[in-house]
Amino acid sequence: MKAVRFVGVGKPAQIADVKKPKPGPGEILVKIGGAGVCHSDLHVMEDDLGFEPPFTLGHENAGWIAELGQGVSGFKEGDAVAVYGPWGCGYCHACQLSMENYCENWAKLGTFGGGLGSDGGMAEYMLVPAARLLLPLDGLSPTAAAPLSDAALTPYHAIKRALPLLNADDTVVVIGVGGLGHMAVQLLRALAPVRIIAADVDATKLAHAKQLGADDVVNTADVEEAAEQIRAITGPRGAGLVLDCVGVQPTVDLGAKLLGRNSVWTIVGLGGGRHDFHHGSTPYGTTMSIPYWGSRGELMEVIAMARDGRIHPEVTEFPLDQAVEVYDKLKAGQIQGRAVLIP
Ligand code: NAD
Ligand code: ZN
Ligand code: ZN
Repeated sequence: MKAVRFVGVGKPAQIADVKKPKPGPGEILVKIGGAGVCHSDLHVMEDDLGFEPPFTLGHENAGWIAELGQGVSGFKEGDAVAVYGPWGCGYCHACQLSMENYCENWAKLGTFGGGLGSDGGMAEYMLVPAARLLLPLDGLSPTAAAPLSDAALTPYHAIKRALPLLNADDTVVVIGVGGLGHMAVQLLRALAPVRIIAADVDATKLAHAKQLGADDVVNTADVEEAAEQIRAITGPRGAGLVLDCVGVQPTVDLGAKLLGRNSVWTIVGLGGGRHDFHHGSTPYGTTMSIPYWGSRGELMEVIAMARDGRIHPEVTEFPLDQAVEVYDKLKAGQIQGRAVLIP
């Protein structure tokens, strides 16, 4: 079968023929309906995140059960499922709480999950090691649902942990309204009565954010100017939450200028931007956080919200063999919402 492979840092993804996997005891073979194209894959291929090549990319997957390994129950062939992406040990305290994204044994596992160390979903079939990592889609199409498992789950987790620290009349700034950010705006709209400011360097993405429910949009090409514009909206109180879905130096510098006292600064983007955190560097009471992905329980919540029509990933479909071109488009900022590869 055809697969999109990570073949080393500094090299583009490669389309190769690989063997169709066979599920062993406890494993499940999923026929892929859609694999989301996440910006993290560009970090995997361009910055050294420590992954050993080669493996099949694609960590945002949904499809149908193709074959159950020995002893697997609860699913049957043809069931539509989302694949939960961060694969933990399955038995530590965090995993028992369904937060495999914070598995205590992550360093010993040798993989972060399918598409991030192990073979992922940019292929016709994907092997999933355990049934607990599959969630029923119950009526959602796998193509439309694939981005829920990361582009929606990651900001959902980030927003949910910030919610108890927010007030109803706070302003939230979402920086970067691409794959994750366009879901973050919708999630905030659905979850909190806050004022939402969307910030991006791309006018098309900003217009999109406005359609999705942002109250204000600000172009951040000039960080100083953008900070002034945003502070004119928030007033001296500042932003209650800055959710940075880019994480490069200019967005980290921008975020630092927007925080109010007792605010939350959540950096989800892996852009490598730095902040020297000390007394005086950020307003008193600032909670800083770098969350990773989300829990299985939270993925169930995200799927339920999508099923009810309260959030919807904006998907552009591409055939699997256009993967390399799609990564180029993503890098050039030419993908609105999420690109999904269809094998
Ligand atoms: P994307 O390419 O779909 O979207 C990025 C958006 O940021 C685009 O709209 C782009 O125009 C905008 N942008 C780029 N530079 C900017 C700047 N200087 N200022 C303002 N906006 C800017 O990417 P994505 O798939 O949404 O991923 C976003 C980031 O989140 C990536 O770094 C990715 O690796 C990371 N990520 C982290 C986690 C996690 O668990 N922490 C999970 C998934 C993705
Ligand atoms: Zn991702
Ligand atoms: Zn664990």
